[in-house]
Amino acid sequence: MKVFKFGGASVNSVERIQNLARILQPYSGEKIMVIISAMGKTTNALEKVAEAFFAGKKEEALGLFEQVKQQHLTTAKYLLVTGYLACERQLRDFFTEAEWLLHDQPVREYDYYYDQLVSTGELFSTAIVSAFLTETGIPNHWVDVRDIFRTDDDFRDAEIDWAYTSASVKEDIMPLFNNHNIVLTQGFIGSTDENESTTLGREGSDYSAAVFANMLDAESQTIWKDVVSVMNADPKQFPEAVSVPELNYNEVIEMAYYGAQIIHPKTIKPLQNKDIPLLVKSFIDPALPGTVIHNKAVPHLPPIIVLKEQQVLLEMRSRDFSFIGEHLVGQLYHLFEKWHLKPNLTQNGAISFLCVLDDKQEKIGKLAQDAAQLADVQIKRDLSLLTIRHYDQPVLEQLTKGKQILLRQQTPETIQLLLA
Ligand code: ASP
Ligand code: MG
Repeated sequence: MKVFKFGGASVNSVERIQNLARILQPYSGEKIMVIISAMGKTTNALEKVAEAFFAGKKEEALGLFEQVKQQHLTTAKYLLVTGYLACERQLRDFFTEAEWLLHDQPVREYDYYYDQLVSTGELFSTAIVSAFLTETGIPNHWVDVRDIFRTDDDFRDAEIDWAYTSASVKEDIMPLFNNHNIVLTQGFIGSTDENESTTLGREGSDYSAAVFANMLDAESQTIWKDVVSVMNADPKQFPEAVSVPELNYNEVIEMAYYGAQIIHPKTIKPLQNKDIPLLVKSFIDPALPGTVIHNKAVPHLPPIIVLKEQQVLLEMRSRDFSFIGEHLVGQLYHLFEKWHLKPNLTQNGAISFLCVLDDKQEKIGKLAQDAAQLADVQIKRDLSLLTIRHYDQPVLEQLTKGKQILLRQQTPETIQLLLA
């Protein structure tokens, strides 16, 4: 059994959905669990619906939701002939559920409404793709993953109940493969024990697919993306970026930690635990080899470069020239926790503590205000944080030429530089 994950970009138009069918064609006869995201920017559009609803702007929320509906109905109309009516009925059931909620007043917390509304994107996309595949001669079985993935009620960042969910996968998903080659369902969403929809965090479909791969003991997981493979740097920032044909799990975890946006960071662990290889392949040109990520050591990696822009440096100095001790550092970490801020780099000196964070302006302001009770605080903005793994002198010189280095931290493997 293989697990395939198709992200939003791979289903964002009629042509892309037709392309998805062409990707599946050569696998007829194999058992494939297919996990699909919401179409294109639907998740963002639904976020706007949730915001308007929660702000009490009911008409605006309904109007925005109407646009999402029409977009999906139009796509379904283009793609489907014999299957259109049944698909439309399924879509309308989902629409009605969301609209009921939109006609109410918000009485619970925002994150709850966010999940009830935003989770519908994946239901819409999978309903359409499933119907289209059936109509083009690729039989498949559609599943509402909310009947399978049980989570806690930490809305927008729900945690999967591993025991319950793996029992459901074994009892309810495995037997489907006796009669179907393709079982198709949603990524990113789940449900509480009270049948409230939940989401697993933005870009969570990669993770959903990995959970399925783990629980189904899949031979591999493939993420179909609009890139030829994993690259050693973001090609938008570094046009000379090169493909990396092979990586190991640890390298990918490190890359994600330093901010590379390739794969959702939670994806690796469920795969690593069962030694299941992860393939990243191009849905534009499936013949390309892509990247394989596995458990074995990979010699001779190129330098792996992660550049984070819009960084802010907070420098905290003790007021009376006393040393910065555990107590003060502990208090500062409490503040990071309080404001949900994660430092990308910290450095501790005798009388100062430095930390680099993403510049979430409002929160940084609040953090700085709180920290000013404890120490003198200085802020520098508009910086970038460069991380290079497997660095060497030439690449270091090339990437820092003409830049001012404000901070440097290095191990034999990894160097991090704060640049102005
Ligand atoms: N549709 C969700 C998002 O855009 C989940 C995903 O695509 O993985 O974040
Ligand atoms: Mg996505």
